[in-house]
Order: sequence, then structure tokens, then C-alpha cells
Amino acid sequence: MRMQILGTLLLTVAVVSLAGVQTVMAGKKPIRALIVDGAQKYHKNKETTPVLKEMLEKTGVFTVSVSTAPVPASDDYKPDFAAYDVIVVNEGYASKPWSRATEEAFEEYIKKGGGMVSFHAADNAWPKWKAYNEMIAIGGWAGRNEKSGPYLYMDADGKVIRDDKPGKGGGHGSQKEFEITVRDRKHPITKGLPETFLHGPDEMYSFLRGPAENVTILATAHSSKDNNGSGHEEPMLMVISWGKGRIFHTVLGHSVKQIKRGSFVTTFVRGAQWAATGKVKIDVPGGFPDQEWGSQ
Ligand code: ZN
Repeated sequence: MRMQILGTLLLTVAVVSLAGVQTVMAGKKPIRALIVDGAQKYHKNKETTPVLKEMLEKTGVFTVSVSTAPVPASDDYKPDFAAYDVIVVNEGYASKPWSRATEEAFEEYIKKGGGMVSFHAADNAWPKWKAYNEMIAIGGWAGRNEKSGPYLYMDADGKVIRDDKPGKGGGHGSQKEFEITVRDRKHPITKGLPETFLHGPDEMYSFLRGPAENVTILATAHSSKDNNGSGHEEPMLMVISWGKGRIFHTVLGHSVKQIKRGSFVTTFVRGAQWAATGKVKIDVPGGFPDQEWGSQ
């Protein structure tokens, strides 16, 4: 009897172990994503967060949790960053500072190789948090100016310009459809995308400035002076390295309508997978960027 129980136990252990190995070998171990959001102004993150979550889950490769910072800000807000492969930041202009202990935990997580996605207005958040501004490379509004770092853009020939001239950080004109030009066609996120594709109508960010270090511009759009723009080729998609961490920064996606565009969906899910793993296995769908919502 005793032997029988022991045998059953051993068999159970063996089956469980085998299942574990198979899952890893088949590459089906899910990517664990955490969306963090909080206080907002000008953006409705209560509406966008569930759509971003659904978008990632529909790829079949992510499991997604959400953590919302309390209002008023609390020192007790301590998401377990280390339990995730990528943190999607859906914060914005009015985001309350995290406690210094939480900021340090996030810095430690990224430094050790964590992944982060800066989504649209996340680059408006936290102008005084030095490490965060290094992670996003450039940001706008919330008092940003020449003290935040240079403007970062490309000239008409695709040369990267860091421009120290004084002035506000952040701007956009009225929402229009615009053309995005891929500037780095070898990066895993942009590999396989058409050289140019349409996005929008959406806000086209311009005049972003910040430390602008360890950043690669993957795609730009021409910011027309006729629509309150800079006249430059402005970064739309970027990647940044910070410590051993990987950051994907997309300025696209003002609200739910804009993030349901195929141009956003594909670049977002591929960017999130790269930030989490350093690789991209999610294909560019046929029909991009006009594929049906939900097909990635
Ligand atoms: Zn916006």
C-alpha cells in the first residue's frame, strides 16, 4: 500500500515536471506584463488600459495584470515589478509621484534587465524623476524645457539631431492622419514593416526633449509647421537601453479610437514583446496597417 502511494506520487511529480519542460520547450511560457496607470489629465487611461490589456492577451503570448496607483498618492503603493517581464506605463500629465522606495524598486528592476513600454502620454509624467526621464529618453509638458535636455529629432536626410536651443518641451497639432517612416528596418520591432505606413488620425507629438541618451529612433513622422509642428522629422517609435533593461517608447495612441488602428496595435504588441524578451515573434499581419482590430 505504502509503495503504491509512493509510486503514484512519483508518477505525479514526473508528469508535472514533464509538462513544465514541454511548456518551456514549446516556447509557450507566457510573457508576464503589468500595466501601471494612475491619476490622469487630458487622457482617459481607465478606457485605454482595458483595451491595451486585451490587445496583448489576443496575441496569445502575454498574460496581463493591471495595477492602478491610488489617489492621493500612497507610500503603500508597491507593485511587485520583479514578478513581470515587462511593465507598460499608462501614466500621464497629472501622475502623482511614486514613493522614492517604489521608484527605486522600479529602477532596480530595469537596471537588472526588466522591460518597459512608455505608452503615449507616459512621456508627460514625472518630469523630476531623473532615472525615469533617462528611460523614456525624451518627454514633454509638465514644465519640461531646455533644463530637461535637448530636443531630439531627425533632419530631412534622416540624420539624428540633438538640439539644445531653449524652449518648451512637448507639442502637437490637431489630430490628422499622417505617414510614418521606418528609419531602422533591421530592428526586431520594425523588421518586416513597410518603409512607410499611415497612422491616425492621432496626435503627432513634437518638441519632445530630455536626456536623449542610449536611444535609437525606429520611426519618425514629418511634423508640419502648418499644424503647430516643428518642421522636423519627429520620433514616433524609439528604443532605449537603461542598465540591462530594454525600453520601447511609442508616442502614438491618444485614446481608444487611436489605439485600435492596426498601425498602433502591431507596433505596440511587437514593442512590448521586444521589451520583455529582446526578440519579436509576433508577425506583421497581412493587410497592415488596415488589418481588422484584434488580429494584431
Ligand atoms: Zn494625447
